[in-house]
Amino acid sequence: MSGADDFRLYIDGAFVEGGSRFESLDPSTGRPWASMPAATAADVDRAVKAAHRAFGEPAWAGLTASQRGRLLLRLADLVAANAAHLAELETRDTGKIIRETRAQIGYVAEYYRYFAGLADKVEGAHLPVDKPDMEAWLRREPIGVVAAVVPWNSQLFLSAVKLGPALAAGCTVVLKASEEGPAPLLAFARLVHEAGFPPGVVNILTGFGEECGRTLTAHPLVARVAFTGGPATARHVVRNTAENLAYTTLELGGKSPVMVFADADLESAANAIVAGIFAASGQSCVAGSRLFVERAVHDRLLALLVEKARRIRIGDPQDPATEMGPLATARQRSHIEATIAASLAAGARLVTGGGRPEGLDEGIYFQPTILSCAGNEVPCAAEELFGPVLSVIAFDGEEEAVALANDSPFGLASGIFTRDLTRTHRLIRRLRAGIVWVNTYRAVSPIVPFGGYGQSGLGREGGAESIRDYTRTKSVWIRTSDEPIADPFVMR
Ligand code: NAD
Repeated sequence: MSGADDFRLYIDGAFVEGGSRFESLDPSTGRPWASMPAATAADVDRAVKAAHRAFGEPAWAGLTASQRGRLLLRLADLVAANAAHLAELETRDTGKIIRETRAQIGYVAEYYRYFAGLADKVEGAHLPVDKPDMEAWLRREPIGVVAAVVPWNSQLFLSAVKLGPALAAGCTVVLKASEEGPAPLLAFARLVHEAGFPPGVVNILTGFGEECGRTLTAHPLVARVAFTGGPATARHVVRNTAENLAYTTLELGGKSPVMVFADADLESAANAIVAGIFAASGQSCVAGSRLFVERAVHDRLLALLVEKARRIRIGDPQDPATEMGPLATARQRSHIEATIAASLAAGARLVTGGGRPEGLDEGIYFQPTILSCAGNEVPCAAEELFGPVLSVIAFDGEEEAVALANDSPFGLASGIFTRDLTRTHRLIRRLRAGIVWVNTYRAVSPIVPFGGYGQSGLGREGGAESIRDYTRTKSVWIRTSDEPIADPFVMR
């Protein structure tokens, strides 16, 4: 990857300076490590106009669907070949540990392969219309310019589920990286260029929410907005799209419940729960942050979790032996600290963690934390914390477990640990969540749709149907009769 560390905006096939630059911090030291370009409203406008022009040009619009698929396959190969470098950049810029970024970015290539395969399987339809002298069919066409907006965590991954189907469908894209941790996406732009997409088909910007994000999502030439981020920002995005009436999907936060019944394999459940809340330092939209445990096994499971949480190796995210890295921002840590203090004041009991680990004063570190709570009303059980904080609540019986799990405005993911098959099926039906994991947690695949209920979002990403969200249909009517059409104003 040439010049990967020279971070620039990628607009209309060229690497360009933004209106200003800002410092990006390394969360493991808390110090600036690189300078990033910030797109102004004028930069965004140029990018959208380039995407709009490219959408209609033969260099892109004239490609067959299979040719688009081949371009995506080339991109997938480049991502796979450069995964180590991209992972290092993501770890440096966000503090996510190298073990996780390597594994995740290796898998990002599979997402592009999956969507490459879908490119020539987007089919229209012939309709059995109720008029004997007519033929009617549906053409499925790319929707137009896509504005893709991603949050700071897992940016390569979260953009693959937008870029992949958008490009497979024949759209063009302006992708906005987050102002926090944009390095991997700006480096990825080099791979898009190398893969040979025509200028303007993919544009990659970074910049701030108000100027770059708002201008992009409200732009009159944008037809489709694919947003991932927090619910408060999502409301701004929906207001922005009142301007362009863009078709919008939202992937938002969560406060996902995990239920453990007395008959579960507790050791296995404990490992899944620890991974579900402490992986990525809890900065994951699907973090299993509310744990409901059947009272009979509550103390045993809690003891197992405490033992595992205390054993987690916290430290330098670039060290492959590290199991938990820092948080991405100091603002985030302050918010977590304040919410824990409010939760303790509201009656929660601190079981383990709750503070900054010793000897790691430089970076933005926080201990794996477990709180015992009486119910969902405690702030740490009610709010999305986006950090390594698990709230544990005891329950008695299936009815109470379901009521507690569903008692949240969010509905992204959920987990059930039990060996009882009939109960499992009852719970699957009743849980209000876009994902149910049974005796596992956090499994993802390009083949399986992803998305939430309620405040967790609108629409689904991944899976074969997600490509339809980047298309629109055109209804075509053809009269098959050779008889001339009668003059409508002559009475017969
Ligand atoms: P955020 O909402 O603060 O920012 C997301 C993106 O929106 C950023 O690129 C930001 O610059 C942009 N933005 C900000 N203001 C904007 C505006 N007015 N108009 C348009 N764009 C604007 O989110 P964050 O703090 O970076 O990320 C954390 C959130 O993302 C959490 O709530 C988390 O659960 C959620 N998330 C969801 C998923 C999912 O797939 N469901 C995945 C990862 C993260």
